[in-house]
Amino acid sequence: MNINYQKELEKIISESQRRETVPRLFLHSCCAPCSSYVLEYLSRFFSITVFYYNPNISPREEYEKRVQEIRRLIDEMEFVHPVDFVEGEYCPQDFYAMAKGLEDIPEGGERCFRCYRMRMEEAARLAGEGGYDYFTTTLTISPLKNAAKINEIGGELAEIYRVPHLPSDFKKKNGYKRSIELSREHGLYRQNYCGCVFSRPEEKNNEKK
Ligand code: SF4
Repeated sequence: MNINYQKELEKIISESQRRETVPRLFLHSCCAPCSSYVLEYLSRFFSITVFYYNPNISPREEYEKRVQEIRRLIDEMEFVHPVDFVEGEYCPQDFYAMAKGLEDIPEGGERCFRCYRMRMEEAARLAGEGGYDYFTTTLTISPLKNAAKINEIGGELAEIYRVPHLPSDFKKKNGYKRSIELSREHGLYRQNYCGCVFSRPEEKNNEKK
């Protein structure tokens, strides 16, 4: 059955509006461009902690550039409800241990599913510890990422860490398009690869040789 995750999200938003509450959301962020629309949209209804945890990114300079951009974006944007920022630990060795044996799997396959889980799991764990009302990730804004899988993982982690997962498919309602406009407005650095060494253009070109 195809689930419309955008509709599911809208139901949750309507319910909190009906109750006149502003829930606390722990939001895993993959990068500034993807976060731009998500923050513009969700900060109207939630108070948000942006959690930057991406041990998949290689090399370190690229990681640092992306952190710098998300910090700058949060400083520049105006929000209805408060948005703050937390940086997770950059531990690429954990990513390589997770990806072992899956290095040659094409983008969008099992390595990526585990990569989503790894990052979302840390978000769910901290959201549970911090007593947040919800956790979620910006990852579903990308047309290259499997939104159904991301929501499935979110549901599993919600059970384990006892914190509700906020369903999403942020590319809907022109979310992806709006993220491109906002990236332009803020002059954001837009990377040309997903993040890990296996997704870098040099690696892909080598595969074709
Ligand atoms: S291609 Fe992207 S999602 Fe897949 S493993 Fe690499 S960084 Fe993670």
